[in-house]
Amino acid sequence: MKTIGLIGGMSWESTAHYYRVMNQEAARLLGGLHSAPVLIHSVDFAPIAQMQADGDWAGAGQQLARIALQLQAAGAKVIGLATNTMHVVAEAITRDLDVPFVHIADPTSDALLADGFSTVGLLGTRFTMEMGFYRERLADRGLNALIPEVDRTNLNGIIYEQLCRGIVTEQSRAIYVGAIERLAARGAEAVILGCTEITMLISDDVSPIPVYDTTDLHAKALIAAALA
Ligand code: GLU
Repeated sequence: MKTIGLIGGMSWESTAHYYRVMNQEAARLLGGLHSAPVLIHSVDFAPIAQMQADGDWAGAGQQLARIALQLQAAGAKVIGLATNTMHVVAEAITRDLDVPFVHIADPTSDALLADGFSTVGLLGTRFTMEMGFYRERLADRGLNALIPEVDRTNLNGIIYEQLCRGIVTEQSRAIYVGAIERLAARGAEAVILGCTEITMLISDDVSPIPVYDTTDLHAKALIAAALA
């Protein structure tokens, strides 16, 4: 099995989920005491979040590209970026990289298409919902992604103020479920948890439509790539 290089820490709460899922998936597929060979470069999220707020995508892209190259130099044979939002700089990260980069939207699209869905809801940070880079990647695969009309500020705030700090409340869960209900009423057949922390709040048990969790799908896709 090849070594995976994971750029994490955005936030560390979700990177911890990646670590668990990758190891569980390796054990499921290979059995016994197998676990995932993984190098995690976990950043300090505060300066990255500041660059997001300032719109300094070039600076953030440079930093993450440097980390990807360091992981490659350290022996990683496949690279993953454990956040949906920062895939806005995926092009900068992959520009000088020789090893494959597993884009988080791709295993998500594969799973939705395999299950026959074409119109889906997309929840995430305001960057992921509004900037277009993510919806365009889904559209390239034939998926029409709807974003919330009225809930975006609340959903975004819950990610940065609560989930990235490990805070999970019933009130926030209800806000997310309400947003999913409104997306379903507009025609969404399934919903993408397009932020790697939303898995802390939402699962199929509480959602009126099927949930596609990017954290789980991406972590498993990284294992598949490492075994390919
Ligand atoms: N982990 C989140 C995501 O998947 C949000 C944190 C960030 O802005 O990177 O988008």
